Amino acid sequence: LARKDYDVIIIGGGHAGTESAWIASQFNLQVAVITMPNVGIATAPCNPAIGGVGKGQVVRELDALGGLMPILADKAGIHYTLLNSSKGYAVRSTRTQIDKDLYPKYARELLDEKSNIEIIEDKVTGVVRDSDGSFIVSTKDDYFHSKKVVVTTGTFLNGKLHQGSDVNAGGRMNSMSSTGLSTLIRNIKTLGKRFKTGTPARLKKSSLDYSKFTEQKSDHKAFNFHWKNYGHDRNLDQVSTYITNTNEDTMNIIRDNKDSSPMFNGQITGVGPRYCPSIEDKAFRYPDRNSHHVFLEPETMEGDSVYPNGISSSLPKEIQDSFIKSIDGLEKVEFHSYGYAVEYDVVDTMYLSNTLEYTEYEGLYFAGQVNGTSGYEEASAQGYIAGVNAALACLGKEKLILNRHESYIGVLVQDLITNKRDEPYRLFTARAENRLWMREDNTYYRMAQYRLSLELNEDIDIFLKSYRKDYDTLIGKALDLTLSSNKETLEMMKVKGYNSFKNTMTLQKLITSSQKDPYSTLLDFIDVKEYNPILVNNVAIDCLYQEYIKRHEKENEKIKEMEKISINWKSLCEESNISFECRQRIKEIRPQTFGELKRIEGIRPATLAFVLHVVK
Ligand SMILES: Cc1cc2nc3c(=O)[nH]c(=O)nc-3n(C[C@H](O)[C@H](O)[C@H](O)COP(=O)(O)OP(=O)(O)OC[C@H]3O[C@@H](n4cnc5c(N)ncnc54)[C@H](O)[C@@H]3O)c2cc1C
Repeated sequence: LARKDYDVIIIGGGHAGTESAWIASQFNLQVAVITMPNVGIATAPCNPAIGGVGKGQVVRELDALGGLMPILADKAGIHYTLLNSSKGYAVRSTRTQIDKDLYPKYARELLDEKSNIEIIEDKVTGVVRDSDGSFIVSTKDDYFHSKKVVVTTGTFLNGKLHQGSDVNAGGRMNSMSSTGLSTLIRNIKTLGKRFKTGTPARLKKSSLDYSKFTEQKSDHKAFNFHWKNYGHDRNLDQVSTYITNTNEDTMNIIRDNKDSSPMFNGQITGVGPRYCPSIEDKAFRYPDRNSHHVFLEPETMEGDSVYPNGISSSLPKEIQDSFIKSIDGLEKVEFHSYGYAVEYDVVDTMYLSNTLEYTEYEGLYFAGQVNGTSGYEEASAQGYIAGVNAALACLGKEKLILNRHESYIGVLVQDLITNKRDEPYRLFTARAENRLWMREDNTYYRMAQYRLSLELNEDIDIFLKSYRKDYDTLIGKALDLTLSSNKETLEMMKVKGYNSFKNTMTLQKLITSSQKDPYSTLLDFIDVKEYNPILVNNVAIDCLYQEYIKRHEKENEKIKEMEKISINWKSLCEESNISFECRQRIKEIRPQTFGELKRIEGIRPATLAFVLHVVK
């Protein structure tokens, strides 16, 4: 067999794998993606939607970092929503429903355009270290050499599919399964438990009674994800989604069939995502509640398939048939496919470093659902971190590590590597200590330092350089502007709907006290024609939060210093002032700093106070 050499081989062409390949290729390295045949590139086996609370922020961070997901999301977006639009800017997040056929098609096209990415459709059967330090990645009939390897195998490792009492090997329906992690790569530690996720049935659009649903139109105010598409002009025509609800009959059918539920009769032992529960979970976790929303989301523009969000299930087909037909508007529903659950192996992420490299196996990285996360965005974010660091390591350059006080991707990575996973991990804005600063609107400003440190010279780098410069000029102008209560100003303000004031008023104070949104207020007083509207919006909202930002900056400096304090985890394990449970967690996780200790789930405030007292 001819030997073929690459700089980076990525195993798996899902969301993590494509993002890894995309960023690694920007360094002009030779990249291969080896991925199972007949699975497709960056396909969406579950809800075809990108973004959401906390996740929308990640997609924008990827955009500022030169990632792929935001480009694809805009190309294939068919329904946009700005979630939490009535709440503060920190928790507002964009979500777009994607056309599930077009998204992978565009992903494949964009990767194919890169002459240094090769996509190889084959199943990887083993990864070993060669004598020269490189890796040998083998398939049944071939083998490849690579300096670095990124494993992004999603739900496929030792994957087991459940639908009622039917159990089959596979990473998802109608696909092959992969061997377990320990067979694929020796001596990698898996979590002691397996994880599980599930998906609902797919319904035929033509069989639904739309007169019984509430319509939700695509929100024209939500901004596109990719900076080049700034604004609201969509690439594709937009479609509506619809809402209906489960009822007493629905939930009783499920409750009456508890014995047939693989999740409740002992057949499935894997732990599922708490924040994305199946309908069986809802039935038994909330026995008094019968009405749960079901969002009917078209999966494609052209096709006839609808995704009923909220009723994922692994009950037998005939029970799914009957509970779904009890829902308003779904009485005559016809099915494309039925729901199922998948159980799979997960890496123990405690063995990964903050570049997602396996600490005991230099050059081997893990990213995506194989790390015990759920969600396409979490997968892409990790794919980026693993891919960029694999590339930087090939070139002997400094690692890229995102700070958790500056980015959601930083929060995600640090949470993963400093905690043993008890359940699938998903991002929320509440996971970030610094969320007033980590907003969607200021993403380019926040992330510029990281992207520019890569010293690449793509369009995004040119954009970010001028963004930072313009930001400094515009925020300077805005914060320096003081209005005087002369006749002309007061009259103009009256016409524009502002209250009058005595003596002087700073523009920043006006922004915080005005009923108008910050963007419009800024526009009323400063000529911003020469600036990019993304930047103007960012500056206006930063003016609104200026006091918090200053306070947070000070507090964060203190927190950052405190977090860096080294601790001796071994001596803490001997400490009788620390509870047995806390000592157990410390022994398991071996924190090196106070920050790492603080983030261990289950560590009590009293333990933290004691440790601070001892180390100070
Ligand atoms: C049934 C189901 C239900 C889901 N439900 C949810 C949900 O409710 N909420 C949610 O957030 N997420 C859900 N997901 C998860 C979502 O699909 C993932 O979060 C996301 O796809 C993870 O991306 P990834 O790149 O890590 O893995 P994947 O997208 O799964 O990609 C893995 C890739 O690796 C390839 N691969 C695997 N093994 C090998 C091998 N040995 N050799 C070569 N290639 C290999 C596969 O072909 C695939 O292309 C669900 C997934 C499934 C299958």
